[in-house]
Amino acid sequence: MSTHCCEEMGKSIAEGEVAICYIDKYREYGIDVLDGGTSIQVIELCPWCGRKLLSSLRNQWFDEIEQLGLTLGDTRIPAEYLSDEWWKKPYLQMQNNGQN
Ligand SMILES: [Zn+2]
Repeated sequence: MSTHCCEEMGKSIAEGEVAICYIDKYREYGIDVLDGGTSIQVIELCPWCGRKLLSSLRNQWFDEIEQLGLTLGDTRIPAEYLSDEWWKKPYLQMQNNGQN
């Protein structure tokens, strides 16, 4: 199964030629805001296939970081929180437990 909802989405994110971005640590899809900064406009539906995208985990990310006593930009943030590892790992563990 592909990581994204459709081939077009996967291709657009991989190639970076359209203003669609995917922030893996927040599981967030967005359109780049053309203000020269790094802000994005979060989208909930895929512009190509129209499917509902997975919901953003931005709030959960900040909750978990806060529980570790850390804030955004702290150098002590565990590496798994800088990628999609922190939210993918529990799902993979659940799958493994299901098989045992
Ligand atoms: Zn799609």
